[in-house]
Amino acid sequence: MTAVQQHDWSGKTILIVEDNENNYDLLKTYLKNSGAKVLWVQDGDEAVEMCRDHQNIDLVLMDIQLPSVSGFDATRQIRSLKKDLPIIAQTAFAMVGDREKSLAAGCDDYIAKPIRRQTFLSKLARYLETE
Ligand code: MN
Repeated sequence: MTAVQQHDWSGKTILIVEDNENNYDLLKTYLKNSGAKVLWVQDGDEAVEMCRDHQNIDLVLMDIQLPSVSGFDATRQIRSLKKDLPIIAQTAFAMVGDREKSLAAGCDDYIAKPIRRQTFLSKLARYLETE
């Protein structure tokens, strides 16, 4: 039996950058009992604006395949504004090269889609439970 680990991320704000509403809903469900505040934008330009204008974002989940500005470009722009903000890329399972490109663009880490609850929560914990 494996118990689902509970995380307390109240007071934390997570920005989800995702153009697909179903994918967003899934991540939102995973975070439901964590206490984290969840923000959602659907394209790279909005993601950069959000990170520029909201000082309290603790972590960004960046979809790589976005309309117009790619997740790579958005990450580069966010990284130039926020040196220490954790950015985790969501890469397509088959696109192995995307992982390396994500890290090169300034992401701290990546998660392959389809994203599983346990993998997701463990990975976020690594960046949200640092103190
Ligand atoms: Mn997408």
